[in-house]
Amino acid sequence: MPDHESYLREATELALANVAEGGSPYGAVIVAEGRVVARAANRIHATNDPTDHAEMVALRAASQSLGRPKLADCIVYASGRPCPMCHAAMRFAGIEQGYFAFTAEEAEAEGLVSAGIYAELCRPLDEQPMQVRHYPLTGEPSPYRAWAERKGR
Ligand SMILES: [Zn+2]
Repeated sequence: MPDHESYLREATELALANVAEGGSPYGAVIVAEGRVVARAANRIHATNDPTDHAEMVALRAASQSLGRPKLADCIVYASGRPCPMCHAAMRFAGIEQGYFAFTAEEAEAEGLVSAGIYAELCRPLDEQPMQVRHYPLTGEPSPYRAWAERKGR
């Protein structure tokens, strides 16, 4: 039985240490078969990479350490509810379980912004504030078809 509480405490301690260093208040721990395979805190303050959320950094470290992109046997422990980017990345990685200690609403109450993005993403594309529009091309071969043909489909 995984010790969810101790891994969540560790993720939260990473978040608190990151704040003390001038970073954002997020930490994550990834566990596979009872062993920690990655620990990370948000690194944006150090790298300027907007995708360096704790969970993303931990997913990259775990996949590098395990030598594979699929992490179905891993559990993600995050200090806060994973934002939509991290949630989707966890899903792409095949993660089947995750736990978080602090809610998106608790983050929002302190001025952190990811909670609103969940709501935005539920709205139709043309009602979202970021303009991402379908702009179809004629005469261009489909990369999806090329991929499927390469796979023998
Ligand atoms: Zn995130």
